[in-house]
Amino acid sequence: MEIFREDGHLTEEALAALAQGAALEETARLELAEHLAFCDRCLQRYTELLAETPLLTPGRSCRESLWARVRARTLRLVTNRYAAAAAAVALALTMVWGSRGIELPQRIVLPRPSISQELRTWPAKWNDSLDGAVSGLNDFLNGRETPVQGGMDS
Ligand SMILES: [Zn+2]
Repeated sequence: MEIFREDGHLTEEALAALAQGAALEETARLELAEHLAFCDRCLQRYTELLAETPLLTPGRSCRESLWARVRARTLRLVTNRYAAAAAAVALALTMVWGSRGIELPQRIVLPRPSISQELRTWPAKWNDSLDGAVSGLNDFLNGRETPVQGGMDS
């Protein structure tokens, strides 16, 4: 069997043998496959040959069983969606009705000094503590006793 024509493309005989699944030599099958991999014209001819061959008909149609499965699945999806929505509504109503008698605590706002106030008063505080430390040191150096806080004096 001749595989290639004179113009380098596959012969009708080779394409028909390939389309009908005839037994071919291994080298012939390799050459056919290699040519079909890169030649669009021969691939088109081969596809047209394949389209002419009669299609297989299934032993039994799966259309009815498929439709039944699609309907059952749709019903299950819709049921699940409505069940989830109903559960959410029931939970929300339970929370709304259950919280009727409960008084929520009022929000307690503590006065917080602002940072600018803190920055304005810290030199005065620092001055006072420095004065206290210096006067305590002076008292110690002059021999005077400072009253100890905490109840040590009798
Ligand atoms: Zn070709």
